[in-house]
Amino acid sequence: MNIVVDLNRCQGYAQCAFVAPRVFTMHGEEALLYTPAVPDDQQERVLRAEAACPVQAIFVGEEAGAGAR
Ligand code: SF4
Repeated sequence: MNIVVDLNRCQGYAQCAFVAPRVFTMHGEEALLYTPAVPDDQQERVLRAEAACPVQAIFVGEEAGAGAR
């Protein structure tokens, strides 16, 4: 599973970092760092983070990270 976060849309609410801290981490006040290739044991958390993001900035899919490889 791969993810892409639209960092233009992301407002740094950190909901994702709260739900899936091993995949999303906040760097300073607003900069989000994330792991595009989601480990198998984190997939459920990432789906919850996707649902929790107030601005729908997280995109999940097998192809989501294809362009970034
Ligand atoms: S929950 Fe959404 S807006 Fe908040 S830091 Fe994560 S991606 Fe950005």
